[in-house]
Amino acid sequence: LPDPDTAAPTAADVAAMLPRPGASSDKYRRGVVGIAAGSERYTGAAVLAVGGALRAGVGMVRYAGVAEPVAQVRARWPEAVITTLAPGEGIEEVGRVQAWVLGPGLGTGDEARAIARSVLSSAVPVLVDADALTLVAQDRSLLRRAAPVLITPHAGELSRLIDVPRARIEARRLENVRRAAAELGVTVLLKGSTTLVAEDERPVRINPTGSPWLATGGTGDVLAGLAGALLAAGLSGYDAASCAAYLHGIAGREGPLTATGVAEALPEVVRSLVDGSRHTF
Ligand code: AMP
Ligand code: MG
Repeated sequence: LPDPDTAAPTAADVAAMLPRPGASSDKYRRGVVGIAAGSERYTGAAVLAVGGALRAGVGMVRYAGVAEPVAQVRARWPEAVITTLAPGEGIEEVGRVQAWVLGPGLGTGDEARAIARSVLSSAVPVLVDADALTLVAQDRSLLRRAAPVLITPHAGELSRLIDVPRARIEARRLENVRRAAAELGVTVLLKGSTTLVAEDERPVRINPTGSPWLATGGTGDVLAGLAGALLAAGLSGYDAASCAAYLHGIAGREGPLTATGVAEALPEVVRSLVDGSRHTF
């Protein structure tokens, strides 16, 4: 039976939520997203998350990371404003952002923990993904903050956060995504063959787009950047997550694809939904 407390966003719903630039827009008002991702070992996740944010049509990306991912992001994305973090250093010296993306490829060691702590002690919304989900599962007090948190786990990552076995989450995804949102007090985007978005007291949004071609390395990093860009533009966690899942699912409809290819497909997907991108003077 269909669950009455669910909703499936339509293209029109997503188009109505998506930000679009106007005559008075500037890069700061369109949204500046901070991305704290990548580590000496995992550099690609940083490149992909920055790419997801830029291809979403963000005002600006500020990237913060350690030396090797900084070199990769700098080489790939001249648009990003970059801060190199020394080992153990947090993001305090990075300029103003309206939201943070934390976690893709970050690692789970002491350096990563210092970065995660500093991002989560900022005053702006934070999207927590990937390795940062492992860090907050080790210390859930990191999630206690005034500004909103959006987490973007797959079932395995959620399993560690709510102490429910992965197989049980997969068997009862709706129940467990609701439970996670209520118990953790955050917005939850649960990835998988169907992506669900839950927030306490709201219907669970069931994403209608996507395809199994998305099951390839790096697509989650692109999603994190994309959703973070929408958070920085001022969407709530619930709306940013729903729109990002929808757009990402269309961008990943036709395979075979790479995560880079999903990011490259995003502008056309956004364009097809938002007429205002061809704005008049
Ligand atoms: P991650 O788990 O971080 O690598 O992200 C993988 C991305 O691919 C998420 O957006 C998932 O929802 C999506 N995905 C993974 N497997 C499938 C599948 N079988 N069908 C549709 N989407 C999938
Ligand atoms: Mg991932």
